[in-house]
Amino acid sequence: MKVPGADVVIVRHGDIGVKSTHVQSWMEETLASNLGATLSARSVEGHVEQHWGRLFIRTDSPQAAADAASTVFGVVSVSPARSVEPTLDSITTALAETARERYHDGSFAVQASRAGEHEFTSQDVGRVGGEAIWETVEDRFEPEVDLENPDVLFEVEVRDEEAFVFLDRIDGPGGLPIGTQEPLVALISGGIDSPVAAWQAMKRGSPIIPVYFDLGIFGGADHRARAIETIRTIAGYAPEEDWAVHVVPIGDALEEIAGAVGDTRMLTIRRLMLRIGGEIAEKTGAKGIVTGEAIGQKSSQTVTNLNVTDKITDWPVHRPLLTMDKQEIIAEARAIGTYETATIDTGCDMLSPDQPETGAPIERVEAKEPDLAELAAAAVDDEELLPIEPMTDPKAE
Ligand code: ATP
Ligand code: MG
Repeated sequence: MKVPGADVVIVRHGDIGVKSTHVQSWMEETLASNLGATLSARSVEGHVEQHWGRLFIRTDSPQAAADAASTVFGVVSVSPARSVEPTLDSITTALAETARERYHDGSFAVQASRAGEHEFTSQDVGRVGGEAIWETVEDRFEPEVDLENPDVLFEVEVRDEEAFVFLDRIDGPGGLPIGTQEPLVALISGGIDSPVAAWQAMKRGSPIIPVYFDLGIFGGADHRARAIETIRTIAGYAPEEDWAVHVVPIGDALEEIAGAVGDTRMLTIRRLMLRIGGEIAEKTGAKGIVTGEAIGQKSSQTVTNLNVTDKITDWPVHRPLLTMDKQEIIAEARAIGTYETATIDTGCDMLSPDQPETGAPIERVEAKEPDLAELAAAAVDDEELLPIEPMTDPKAE
């Protein structure tokens, strides 16, 4: 519920606040710039102001600006707010006007915080403001104060230069601003898991270099389109980045592997994928590889098999979903907007052997393998760099 007369959005961050002074201001600057990029990607007018510990967006479109800001990594919550003079009179008037338009029944509370020098305390704001709200509505209905669990919470933040009155807090993704950590390659198949894994790495501040493996004759017709669409969705959370998908054709390599390898085939395919991911990290300056694997989700994802998979590369392999259940991953996919696309059936699981290996010793896997370094190098040589347009409103996909 937006406060009437809103002219600003309060933007709160979390993890940035525990950094040293120098790092905090650099991260706040990055956040301000990412917020600006997200506003312009959505054609929302707004001016981002950076203050210590807080950012503000001055805008004529507070709801649209708040919705946009709530998708930016590093943002914990946002509130469309009305700014007024930092005096008890102005605050009380704003609270009364807000009550007239937005408080129609049930209970209420006023919660105030204050920083700086003023001739009144937070308690005064609560008491005087509460009385004003009461008097505004009492001829319409019987108001009730409930400090524990009010139906309508009026919040006031008082600062030196101005005070803010607001009603709601919209959650952001949290995390750190994109660009404050080093980039990572993310292997994205377009299924349910891998886009969520990539998004989670982005949430911690790492730009993502998306890699999609074109499976050739082993891939369904819509497989590639599905992957691109999920990448466009997560790209919508970071429109300030230059997005291009590394599309790597591995159909030939898969044919060779399918001919040569039996029950350990899926492991060899994962190993090929990581090997290629490492080469792309090498040439793009990324510092690791993200996958959508979770312990025990598939036979290739047993703890032993993950270990065998990792041995093909020196690059660290990050698995943000490692300990998540499928239902939790699905809930996350729905929340970020990738679920609908990810569940389009592409009908491709032609490669699985009848009895996949769940715990092969590395020696046995390596023994049957074609030269993966060679296959990887050939595939990377043939890669296509596909620029993509980030989705404007990823959550509304
Ligand atoms: P997803 O994790 O995307 O839902 P999945 O559950 O079918 O796919 P696997 O096929 O076992 O998982 O793949 C494990 C991981 O390997 C994926 O999470 C993804 O990171 C990567 N991967 C698999 N196939 C591809 C592909 N075609 N392109 C890019 N990455 C892939
Ligand atoms: Mg999976």
